[in-house]
Amino acid sequence: MPPAPAAAESRPGPSDRERGDACPGALRLHPADDGALARVRLPGGLLTDRQALVLAGLAERWGDGALELTSRGNVQLRGLPADSGAELGDALRAAGLLPSETHERVRNIVASPLSGLDGRGYADVRAWVRELDQRLCASPAAAGLAGLFLFALDDGRGDVAALDADVTLIATPGGGALLRLGRAVTARRVAAGDEASAALAAAEEFIAAAGAKAWFVRDAPELVDPGAEPLPPPTGTAPEPGRFDGGLVVGTRFGRLSAAQLRQLAAAAPELRITPWRSVVLPGATGPAPAGLRTAPGSPWERATACTGAPGCAKSLADVRTDAARALDLAVEPGAPVHWSGCERRCGHPAGAWVDVLATGAGYRVTAHRMSGPTSQDLTTEQMAEAVAEARRTT
Ligand code: SF4
Repeated sequence: MPPAPAAAESRPGPSDRERGDACPGALRLHPADDGALARVRLPGGLLTDRQALVLAGLAERWGDGALELTSRGNVQLRGLPADSGAELGDALRAAGLLPSETHERVRNIVASPLSGLDGRGYADVRAWVRELDQRLCASPAAAGLAGLFLFALDDGRGDVAALDADVTLIATPGGGALLRLGRAVTARRVAAGDEASAALAAAEEFIAAAGAKAWFVRDAPELVDPGAEPLPPPTGTAPEPGRFDGGLVVGTRFGRLSAAQLRQLAAAAPELRITPWRSVVLPGATGPAPAGLRTAPGSPWERATACTGAPGCAKSLADVRTDAARALDLAVEPGAPVHWSGCERRCGHPAGAWVDVLATGAGYRVTAHRMSGPTSQDLTTEQMAEAVAEARRTT
């Protein structure tokens, strides 16, 4: 099964362009019901052990004691005091996590998380990540990108290429890459060495063409030249939790890592790679698996996501994460992607075939999006677990 695509994570619609981009950042905190929220961009999901320890300390000192992993391989601190922005910024800057104040919210770059570790793929895309990040931060035009505009750098295995990014680079045999814009089924060929500059140029072209009309390439595909090379659909999969020759992949519950768990991960490897599937790759890790995290495939928690819900979001009709956790702990096998939402907005839902579990105020509406069309049932919270397990088996 292809990986659950990352997220329509509260994407604004095209008509929201004129109202401005409210996407949170490390310096622009978002006022949530459980306190202020800061989103720290991690290009390629890359984090050193030292930086992970800094984030763990910040989560304990200012936040709710945990870190949230996002579907763009970034991290969030929640429950912050509204006036903690300046000190937070200083700490992130000192740790090398805030290289640009003007561009901090546009450094959204996902990359194949096992690149260079498992002998697959045609390039180690970490070099592309670093170069693109530097070029992005040096481009005045790029500061105008939306805070959810996404670059995906795929090493050729087709994993992050499935994420519907605005600009996607896919490494090709022998060097170079194919560059795809939005959901185009064709691509441009890019010579070896030009990958990062071509990705940035494509984004700058989009800004120049779209102006005030659209936030994302998918909203204005007519404004971009898709290229002429046919592109087959990506077939890669998200890395499964467990050991592999190059290290360890660790799965989380809805992307939450306590400060203590983060310290355990930092002790296990000098580099952490946060994946768009809210797991963590620990290159070279050989020691004992961190407690309380998934380190084997086959769990019902795979491909299971949930929005923030209550008490963090005022719009939510239920504490969806608590209800979802109870349902997943009762299940015995993984299945189709499933997403719990506290309201119709369905923040962070996957694309493709998935099971939609929506809080109604009286329980949950479980909708299976099948090829034959959607089928829905309105259920109590107690009935929901069984219906979700059945829908995941048959979707
Ligand atoms: S309750 Fe609605 S608005 Fe709040 S996080 Fe969930 S889906 Fe988004």
